[in-house]
Amino acid sequence: VVVENNGETMIRSPYKDVPEINQSFGEFMFSYLGKFSKLELLVDYPTGRHYTGSKVKDCAVKVASALSRMGLQKGDVVLIFASNCPEYPILFLACGVAGIAVSTANPVYTPGELARQLAHSEARAVFTLKAMLPTVKEALSGNQEAAERVKHIIVIDGEADKCRPFSSLLDDDGQMFPENTDIDTRGTILTLPYSSGTTGLPKGVMLSHFNMVNNLQQAMCGQMKFHTGEDILMGLLPFYHIYGLTVLQFSPLTQGTKLIIHPKFEPETFLKSIEEHKVTYCHLVPPLVLFLAKSRDLGRFNLTSIRQFVSGGAPLGAGVSSDLEKALGVPVLQAYGLTESSPITHYDEKPHRQGTIGRLIPNTRAMVMDPISGANLPVGETGEILIKGPQIMMGYLKNKEATDKTVRDGWLYTGDIGHVDADGYFTISDRLKELIKYKGYQVAPAELEALLCTHPAIQDAAVIGLSVGEGVGEVPKAFVVAKPGHNISMEEVLNFVEKNVAPYKKLRGGVEFIDQIPKTASGKILRRMLR
Ligand code: AMP
Repeated sequence: VVVENNGETMIRSPYKDVPEINQSFGEFMFSYLGKFSKLELLVDYPTGRHYTGSKVKDCAVKVASALSRMGLQKGDVVLIFASNCPEYPILFLACGVAGIAVSTANPVYTPGELARQLAHSEARAVFTLKAMLPTVKEALSGNQEAAERVKHIIVIDGEADKCRPFSSLLDDDGQMFPENTDIDTRGTILTLPYSSGTTGLPKGVMLSHFNMVNNLQQAMCGQMKFHTGEDILMGLLPFYHIYGLTVLQFSPLTQGTKLIIHPKFEPETFLKSIEEHKVTYCHLVPPLVLFLAKSRDLGRFNLTSIRQFVSGGAPLGAGVSSDLEKALGVPVLQAYGLTESSPITHYDEKPHRQGTIGRLIPNTRAMVMDPISGANLPVGETGEILIKGPQIMMGYLKNKEATDKTVRDGWLYTGDIGHVDADGYFTISDRLKELIKYKGYQVAPAELEALLCTHPAIQDAAVIGLSVGEGVGEVPKAFVVAKPGHNISMEEVLNFVEKNVAPYKKLRGGVEFIDQIPKTASGKILRRMLR
């Protein structure tokens, strides 16, 4: 797996490469769904509402037809603002078939956060749940640019004034199904999730049909190969995030396995659903591994159906994962990836090497590079990890500068620091990029800094992540310079931030007042100095 060439070290996947797929997402998904027409694939845990392979396909055809009747067509963008539900992947698939790009937003966003994504993505329609409708309406009333473009609000779970119920899309006769949509698989955006990447504000990550189809294909081996018709997967991680999109929603649909969908995390309900549905395969993030490792309730439920846990999205402490392994006798394997890589690039295998993120998936290459000199580093030396493969994004929407910095010569600069061993196992040890990960959620320092600087009593601000142990990851801490002649208390800063951002972005690391933010001559914040 380690290839030396002209003094340069490149790491390859231990798996045989698979032929790249040039099908559109719709063609690819429909061919698999056709094979699993009778299998129950999507189950809403709270209500028991469920969909077989043929029902998923049938609904997607009707919705795609209804969307084209509404004037939505290839090249348009729509946004899904919803917690997990079975209709999420159906809508996504219907849009994919029609060549419509789907931007996905965190359901806990404030109106301001949602408005920014609606405006930036140029969304023409919003799909949401009744409970989130007030946020959508407030977002649109506070942002003229977004309001002018959004022509339709579709409510997935009921009816509401001036909105279209999702059920009416299912009444469509399918006649307007965009059968012959010609999709350039590498050049057409399938999905547009937002990620801050290495630096700056959240950016629209353009993932093409080619990116996602190939990542789904790459995932059909190793630890992510499921047992068709047998495996039951846990559908708890948020669907809006790329991990929840590719790995939770569509990987099971391509492999004929059932997904038990949870709209939110409730400890008892989560454990009970494993027992009730005999869940075999559980995708987790580190805080959930921690919850399971520490839970005193494990003995109250029959969890013996589980054959595998996978943890991704953020660093996993070896202690927590071995605690869970001891408690349940089930391996906890790591996976690694980024929104910018659709997301999977690495996974570990049984028997696994704790503390590593495993090895590269098929068709994927990596290099380790000295972030200062740019020199290619040999096995065992620590540097920035670069990745190449069919899953690497098209780029950031309307942001060539950030794209050119992040993807160079086809190599994705991950902003993660780590090393590889002689067998091709990677270990992540640090993060070069400014991104803060709180419980697996992205918090962009630049976003909080920009917000803080809008406060009339704040002159300047900088935000860094403080490490707070296993499971949680990091919490944002702000350094604030008050405007001369203004008085502002720590409480006021905390409240101001809390009012304007989703709960996971709160300044849990506190606030410190300083005289000046240390910066380079070019104005870049010296975060390491603050740390
Ligand atoms: P996102 O785009 O939200 O998926 O965030 C991607 C980032 O999450 C990566 O660049 C890493 O910093 C972090 N990450 C994801 N998976 C892992 C993992 N298994 N171990 C350590 N960090 C991870």
